[in-house]
Amino acid sequence: RVASTAGQAPTPAIRVSNPVQAASTETATAVVLRPSDIPTLLSIVIPVYNEEGNLRELYRQVTAVLDRERIPFEIVLVDDGSRDGTWQVIKELNDADDRIVAIRHRRNFGKARGLSNGFAVANGDVIITMDGDLQDEPTELPRFLSTLGEGYDLVSGWKQRRQDPLGKTLPSKFFNWTVRRASGVQLHDFNCGFKAYRKDVTENIRLYGELHRFTPVLANAEGFKVAELPVKHNPRTWGESKYGWSRLLKGFLDLLTVVFLTRYRYRPLHLFGIPGVLAIMLGVLLGLY
Ligand code: UDP
Ligand code: MG
Repeated sequence: RVASTAGQAPTPAIRVSNPVQAASTETATAVVLRPSDIPTLLSIVIPVYNEEGNLRELYRQVTAVLDRERIPFEIVLVDDGSRDGTWQVIKELNDADDRIVAIRHRRNFGKARGLSNGFAVANGDVIITMDGDLQDEPTELPRFLSTLGEGYDLVSGWKQRRQDPLGKTLPSKFFNWTVRRASGVQLHDFNCGFKAYRKDVTENIRLYGELHRFTPVLANAEGFKVAELPVKHNPRTWGESKYGWSRLLKGFLDLLTVVFLTRYRYRPLHLFGIPGVLAIMLGVLLGLY
């Protein structure tokens, strides 16, 4: 692994690769995992808010795939202040299986904080994040590992055939286009919760606010290699989506934060200095006058 270059200016080169195309639509069976693709320990981090009806099935499917592939793993379930029986189900799973790590937020903080707290306790050398509503397809997990094995540090899912209403998919297209233009990172789908990271990446990016959508931008700015992987996406069958229209506006504000962090974090005066210098000059001129 290449050490990160924290403390230096972001790399100018855009190292986002072309999207890796699926070998076939038959997902799990098409993947061959080489020994080097299998991490010593894989952490699956799942932020959940009011998902009691999805968790047992999600647990069953994830463990089935990983056990079949003989991948050593832990599942970090982060209850983001749920009001339903989510925490009871998590405790039950945690009692029954040593590989379940349970975290509970005292109140609802949002997905990004769930992810960063999950990252903080994850022991894996590879960390995969996925949603807790079964919209992300567990049989895709091995493909994330084989894609990392091709030499990437972050693999971002692409919900190519997205199973959500038009009211979500249209604004999302516009959002993704804007982020591509502003960040130079050529992903189709920044909003996908299904992503794989080498531990180096999660240790070197900070996820405050709702910056979880921008991890590929933050990682790219640190010189990590990013790939995009088309994944199967399922409709939500139990429970409700937690995000509506307000996410779009917040997303754009967060984009400003990310552009600032990736371009000017280590040279803030290149941004603030110009109006500052102009104000000084104006002040001096006014003073002379
Ligand atoms: N989530 C969370 N905290 C929140 C909102 C959502 O942990 O405040 C979780 C949610 O339970 C799910 C994931 O984030 O596991 C994605 O949320 P959702 O399915 O509502 O988003 P959508 O798929 O509609 O974009
Ligand atoms: Mg969902």
